[in-house]
Amino acid sequence: MKNLSRRSFLQNVSMGAGGVAVAASLPSFMMPPANDAGKKLNIAICGLGRYGNYLAEGIAVSQYCKVAGIITGTPAKAAEWKTKYNIPEKNIYNYQNFDEIKNNKDIDLVYVVLPNAMHKEYTIRAAKAGKHVIVEKPMAITPADCREMIDACKTAGVQLAVGYRLHYEPYNLEMKRLGQEKVFGQVRLIEASLGYKTSDPTEWRLNKALAGGGPLMNVGIYCVQSSRYVTGEEPISVTAQFGPITDKKLFAEVEASIAWQLEFPGGAFSNCTSTYNCGIDRFFASADEGTFELSPGISYGPFKGKTSKAELNFPEINQQAAQCDGIAKIILDNKQLPEHINGEEGFKDMKVLQAIYEAARTGKKISLV
Ligand code: NAD
Repeated sequence: MKNLSRRSFLQNVSMGAGGVAVAASLPSFMMPPANDAGKKLNIAICGLGRYGNYLAEGIAVSQYCKVAGIITGTPAKAAEWKTKYNIPEKNIYNYQNFDEIKNNKDIDLVYVVLPNAMHKEYTIRAAKAGKHVIVEKPMAITPADCREMIDACKTAGVQLAVGYRLHYEPYNLEMKRLGQEKVFGQVRLIEASLGYKTSDPTEWRLNKALAGGGPLMNVGIYCVQSSRYVTGEEPISVTAQFGPITDKKLFAEVEASIAWQLEFPGGAFSNCTSTYNCGIDRFFASADEGTFELSPGISYGPFKGKTSKAELNFPEINQQAAQCDGIAKIILDNKQLPEHINGEEGFKDMKVLQAIYEAARTGKKISLV
């Protein structure tokens, strides 16, 4: 993925959506920190798997962040990352000695990129060590765990963000703007689906204790997010249905597919699906006076989108760099993270995910108010 400069981003955004008015000024998350004296946020990545690698590559090309440390249980990975990112030995931890990070002034923030069920423990340990935290989605596996993580960070006086990369991605920001500013009138219907075919039975994502659930936890969370940010509202009720178990070995513990429907107080209805059985990546909204949609629009891109009036045309950005810079600037400025990216956002999603599972299990409409 290309990492476009702020200037080229601005040029592309202002040319943008052809026929649909788009923001003409630099988005606030791309403005330099007020105290921009070359200071970078020193990040230690906890969990060097597939997404930990994506994040490190994004951070390496970011403006305000640095891969300053790692936490890993695999000595070979420690050696590889030490060379690749020029990480001093004193900033390398394993899961046993991780708590000693409290004595390390060269680490500002721990980015937790472990299997979902481990997010809570490592977020709380990082907070107790006095480090800010970014935790990957889903924030945890129950709303109660999310609340404990929020409380631990509050008690420790550190900030907690959730790794919602699409909150910094231009196509998704435009979908949010078109919906929330009612550019095409009141949104009535949202369809969001994300899925891919899974085949490795040893993958932790198929283990309920580690993943918390199946595709809903992993990718369905994005569809809940998109429904929430297009409407700018919290859902009031949910119905849901599990899809067929197509492979008893793969899906012994988690669902293979799940569909659900959310009702919003302003009158919007959202119909979503997530699956481990096939590829799908789309996000569609229909409002009183038109439609707007992305496909692909939720994964890593490149994205494509259009409205009922025109094509959408935004730059492809490095989503991980944009997200980390957006969060870093606020922390470097000693300001509080806004609610759309802090732990409260993760908690809100987790409440909806829990209700979706309850609705699918019971066949009942579950109230969220
Ligand atoms: P992964 O399997 O590639 O990596 C997991 C890492 O955790 C590995 O380094 C592994 O060694 C380590 N680990 C430690 N204890 C483990 C245990 N008991 N079992 C399994 N692994 C263990 O997974 P990933 O794709 O990097 O996902 C990690 C987190 O990142 C998940 O919460 C996932 O939802 C999230 N994620 C987010 C995005 C995004 O776009 N924001 C994309 C992918 C993954």
